[in-house]
Amino acid sequence: MAAGEKFPTEVNQLNALPDAKKDFPRLVLVPSQVLQQAIKQLHRSWEGFQKLGHGFPRFKKYGQFKSLLFPQFKQSPVQGNNLLLPKLGLVKVNLHRPLPDGFTVKQVRIIKKADRWYASIALQCDVNVPNSIPHGHPIGVDIGLEKFLATSDGILVKPPKFFKSLQSKLKLLQRRLSRKQKRSKNYEKARIKVALLHHQIDNTRKDFHFKQAHALCDAGDMVFMEDLDYTVMAKGMFGKHMLDGGFGQFRTIVKYVCWKRDKFFGVVNARGTSQECPECGAVVKKDLSVRVHNCPECGFTTDRDVAAGLVIRNRGIASISTVGQTGIEMACADGLPGAEETKPRSKSKTRKGKTKKSKL
Ligand SMILES: [Zn+2]
Repeated sequence: MAAGEKFPTEVNQLNALPDAKKDFPRLVLVPSQVLQQAIKQLHRSWEGFQKLGHGFPRFKKYGQFKSLLFPQFKQSPVQGNNLLLPKLGLVKVNLHRPLPDGFTVKQVRIIKKADRWYASIALQCDVNVPNSIPHGHPIGVDIGLEKFLATSDGILVKPPKFFKSLQSKLKLLQRRLSRKQKRSKNYEKARIKVALLHHQIDNTRKDFHFKQAHALCDAGDMVFMEDLDYTVMAKGMFGKHMLDGGFGQFRTIVKYVCWKRDKFFGVVNARGTSQECPECGAVVKKDLSVRVHNCPECGFTTDRDVAAGLVIRNRGIASISTVGQTGIEMACADGLPGAEETKPRSKSKTRKGKTKKSKL
């Protein structure tokens, strides 16, 4: 682009697509709505950069753009065990469950993970799902590194052991990969092994998160968690471990499971939850090494994380009683796990000097 030229808008670019197809015949091979989605995605990230303070949109090189979005269908693309997609035709799929009655297919996203392809089918149905109102037994949930979670009922869940063994396996495979010559056949084989293991770790973690979320819903009717921004914490000193725990994902899953099971979900202010006495409200300073909460004011003693869970529960109850029946936050299915692509792994790494400049 010439320096004086105006920045193209989304509409400009969408209108330029037919001409671009003449210049680049390969574009004709791609379903046109998929091309349009790519432009939309680009402009969404531009908006994010210019207005919301997100990072500079990064160029996607080969292998980084992993999904195709088919945004609408005239008729259901699911035909038996096949998926009918524009320009691709009938594609045989492993349909995990039949489409429920009364639902129509809204969009289909084809995602490449490791060496296999997935189709994520979004369904639409014209029903009104009432938001759950606060009721019943409340639980406060504190999540952390030493214990995966601690509830106000005194239940402690340790981080599962299989992560450790999978991590060491990953380390081994990554080391093997680093010794292969780039772009060679053996490099590609090793790369797929690493990608598959990442995939397995993701799935194992998600499975664990869903089981824990259901266990929480079994135990209570209202679930409260902290409003911590885990991505910020991940940049801090516990970086790698925080991301490994996948706490942000866990909260999204809990929110979703609560919505699905008609349990109330709320978030509370996270400030000082570990430094407060749940019985009398006194501030009890303790650093990370102190694992027991022992209040000098009222003598209340319990596990440190259970105390934090109790504080979260108390704050949650206070928040719904002040705001009334509406509550502060309603459970809903936004950001449903699996609906969107998982974040690229490179995001967690610190950027190199070069890309930082463009951040302004
Ligand atoms: Zn106390």
